[in-house]
Amino acid sequence: MKNNNHLSEKKNVKHVRIFVVSLVSILAFLLMTFLPKKNFLANLYIPFMEESPTLTVFVSATPTPTLFPTPTSTITQAPTPSISPTPMPPEGKAFSVGSSIEGKSIDVFRFGSGSNVRMIIGGIHGGYEWNTSVLSYLLIEDIKSGRIKVPFDTTLYILPILNPDGYFDYPDSSYGRGNARSVDLNRNWDAIWEADWPRTGCFSYVYITAGEKPFSEPETQALSQFILDNQVKALISYHSAMSSIFAGGRPEPDTASENLAKALASVSGYNYPPLDGGACCYTGQLIDWASANGIAAVDIELTDHDSNDIVINRKVLEAFLAWQE
Ligand SMILES: [Zn+2]
Repeated sequence: MKNNNHLSEKKNVKHVRIFVVSLVSILAFLLMTFLPKKNFLANLYIPFMEESPTLTVFVSATPTPTLFPTPTSTITQAPTPSISPTPMPPEGKAFSVGSSIEGKSIDVFRFGSGSNVRMIIGGIHGGYEWNTSVLSYLLIEDIKSGRIKVPFDTTLYILPILNPDGYFDYPDSSYGRGNARSVDLNRNWDAIWEADWPRTGCFSYVYITAGEKPFSEPETQALSQFILDNQVKALISYHSAMSSIFAGGRPEPDTASENLAKALASVSGYNYPPLDGGACCYTGQLIDWASANGIAAVDIELTDHDSNDIVINRKVLEAFLAWQE
């Protein structure tokens, strides 16, 4: 048993040696294998590092789309001064500044580009005051034909039909005084606005309101915004028919509006002070809102509901353009 045991121990020692030799061989193999791999990993790391700057370049390239506005704005910087921040509409062409309750466009025409900004508004009352819109278009044609010249330092805007619903829906009818909601657009401004007023001595032929609140109507919103945005300094709002001129400002006209009213009365023969004589209680009016905003403003009432008064109002327009505050 002892010999047998000795033989078996010898075998075991041999097995251990074989195992150790094998293990050493495997370790040697692995070392041989991994040593280059260490370099390979290092090599792997290098491309990764190389990729990193590539990525950085890519990242720096990524904002390029967001950088697009920069070159664009650089490119547009040169034309900007000539275009001006709010591009001017083309001269003599209708451009829309808003819409009526029924979605009809409210159009304005521009003439000239000077800093002295003036405006004419026709058809704030539609229907039976249609002749104020016709007059506005005739004045536009006079300027286009060169019959009336706009001074170089002046911009003139003409808005022929502020109330297109009343103008087109009720031609030559007092039903067209208000817009499609029966709001009187000359009682809807934020100047001594009242929901109601004494009807005695005022227009009272058909149902009419002042709107739910000042500037409740899209027509007055559009025009007030346009006047403020374009820094209008003086304006005429045409009506018919009292053959008179009213100056803006309550309870008393402001000096500039009164001077403008007198200047226009002197060339037209329209009455100033107006024939009305204070019979009607005026609330929420355009010219009073304009006056409160430092704008010289007058209402001009044509002689009747039929005549366009073009001969008189050529003189009025020339005096309006020449008038100095
Ligand atoms: Zn009117």
